[in-house]
Amino acid sequence: MEETITAFTGAGAVAGRGDRGVRAPEAAARYAEECHWDVCPGTWLEMNGGAWHCSCGDPGCAAPGAHPARADWAAEATGSATVARRMWRERPEASVLLPTGRSFDVIEVPETAGFLALARMERREPAPGPVVSAPDRRMRFLVLPGAAAKVPDLVRGLGWAPATLDLAVLGAGGYVAAPPTRWGAWGSVRWVCRPTAANRWLPDAAELIAPLAYACARER
Ligand SMILES: [Zn+2]
Repeated sequence: MEETITAFTGAGAVAGRGDRGVRAPEAAARYAEECHWDVCPGTWLEMNGGAWHCSCGDPGCAAPGAHPARADWAAEATGSATVARRMWRERPEASVLLPTGRSFDVIEVPETAGFLALARMERREPAPGPVVSAPDRRMRFLVLPGAAAKVPDLVRGLGWAPATLDLAVLGAGGYVAAPPTRWGAWGSVRWVCRPTAANRWLPDAAELIAPLAYACARER
């Protein structure tokens, strides 16, 4: 298992520089097979009148090509690579969505705050788990499930009112778009920290909240 994860995340694989090299169907199957994450196909981009539009048909779509396509998307999500391959065979351009509140929750902060927090984490513990950034300029840190329930208290414990920080937590019912999803005309979702064998045991929200909250407070 360790070897497959290493192969999955090595040079030219799903993450980092290899983002463009792996198509959505293969990436989705690998997330299911090697990371043990549920995956769900979302909307996609369609060229229409010389411009890219979201397959949802809403001209004002806030996340073109990077959100659920169906109301029952959560029930459709699968942890089976075989089922994932079958779903993306039908919709090869569909975005790759990872439901939150299952294998992981997500702490979401502005990209600038995320980079600041990562710089602090580089110098000392805790080590971050996988981190994804998207063209909406938000950075999303994967943490153990259960974060959604306890982050507000953790933030209060650090001395901030949760509502004053631009920090959100995604738990049950939420999702994140994963590489190689293309997000509107602005670019693609990418891994800032790739899923690897080393970070497959995700950090707890309590371990990451201090650097993330401090970074968000500085960005206010
Ligand atoms: Zn849309």
